[in-house]
Amino acid sequence: MSQDLSATGQSTMNCQCGIATRIFIGFTPTNVVRRFYKCSKPNGYKCDYWKWVDDPLHPRVANFIHDLKKENDNLHREKKALETGMVILKVFGIDIEENCECLDEINVSKSEQVVVDNEEGCCQ
Ligand SMILES: [Zn+2]
Repeated sequence: MSQDLSATGQSTMNCQCGIATRIFIGFTPTNVVRRFYKCSKPNGYKCDYWKWVDDPLHPRVANFIHDLKKENDNLHREKKALETGMVILKVFGIDIEENCECLDEINVSKSEQVVVDNEEGCCQ
């Protein structure tokens, strides 16, 4: 579960150590974006205290949010990969914007050809 949570801040709730807990957010399929209190000490020194802050979501809503989060994470990974690809292309001196203009010209000339072909077909 440690991979699927993030800390959001300090709380006023104390743990068994007598110190303020931190509030974390779970992203597991059954408890997506559900906050909970947990000991704020580093791993290995934490006590066992934890308590839910939020009520559970309806399973349908939790699944929906979980799927959206997965999709968002995938889009971020894809964006990073594309940005890396752009950097690599620039290193090899390939200008994407210049090449995109060439592609636009190719697309325009192809669509013009299609229109001409249709007109010739109509007249015969
Ligand atoms: Zn503690």
